Amino acid sequence: MEYRRLGSTDLKLSKIGFGAAPLGGEYGALDLAEAERAVHKAIDEGITFFDTAPYYGRTVSEERLGKMLEGRRDKVVLATKIGRYDKASFDFSAERVRTSVDESLQRLRTDHIDLITAHDIEFGDREQVINETIPALRAVQKTGKVRYVGISGLPLRMLADVAVRARVDNVLSYCHYNLLLRDLDTYLTPVVEAHGIGLVNASPLHMGVLTAQGAPPWHPAPDVVKEAGRKVVDLLERRDVYPAVAALRFSLDHPYISSTLVGMVTTLEVETNLKAMDFKLDPALLAEIDAVVDPVKGMSWPSGTPDNSDV
Ligand code: NAD
Repeated sequence: MEYRRLGSTDLKLSKIGFGAAPLGGEYGALDLAEAERAVHKAIDEGITFFDTAPYYGRTVSEERLGKMLEGRRDKVVLATKIGRYDKASFDFSAERVRTSVDESLQRLRTDHIDLITAHDIEFGDREQVINETIPALRAVQKTGKVRYVGISGLPLRMLADVAVRARVDNVLSYCHYNLLLRDLDTYLTPVVEAHGIGLVNASPLHMGVLTAQGAPPWHPAPDVVKEAGRKVVDLLERRDVYPAVAALRFSLDHPYISSTLVGMVTTLEVETNLKAMDFKLDPALLAEIDAVVDPVKGMSWPSGTPDNSDV
């Protein structure tokens, strides 16, 4: 495994990070014993960055991860979130920040969270996030309960604006830097890099689209994007390349991203994704993938309130 420093923090993240949304059942039913083996396999192989949220499985992901990490908490850089609690339930108030952190500490069975992220901020009020949420998280930081403070969401322009104005430590972006969609560097990377802010990239498989099983039923991408994803998977399989390995490698090659978070619940997924570390993505194959993706280039979906959404 390789490790990269996160922005101006003293956190070192494994280049492959363990996304725990599927651990909350967000991608369907799972075998819990196998998921626990996957967590331990990941740690054994040097994957040290773990990301969860109260939202994933409505606290279930945090509960499960906290239990699975017992005895190994000191081996990992643990990230969770505040602000999003259900599909349409958001609260970015200072009061909820404080109670949410305490609840997460309990569920995660730890006395500190390494990185706390205001979750999907495009559903909140932008000025509240800047003037209330992030300052409340900074106050919690002073107590030692959290070490660093970040934001996450889909619309890149809003993330860039809030990152700079609220002076956060990290931005977690998802579905904007992978084989299907690559506008991260147009809107966000130069801004965070200029300010020494960390950057984590999530969903290298475009939330399941770039897998043989395809997108989960709730996936918000337009059908044409899902169809393009299926064609990319077919192309890679015809070339005897495992889709997740190629997709993850593409994200790992980014020069500034500290860690790429991929959701995993089986040891096979962990083992397969680790192969991306030594894989080389052939430029000719990438050009073929680009040709398949070209008709849907830059296509995302609306997220958040209309004034915050990019689409
Ligand atoms: P992803 O693109 O990582 O895809 C996950 C899906 O792919 C799951 O169904 C998983 O079981 C499957 N998968 C993983 N490896 C595989 C393999 N080798 N072969 C076949 N299938 C494989 O999407 P994600 O999990 O949503 O994103 C990664 C993580 O990033 C999340 O778990 C979460 O921690 C974080 N995230 C955060 C936000 C946010 O803050 N707003 C948004 C998205 C993701």
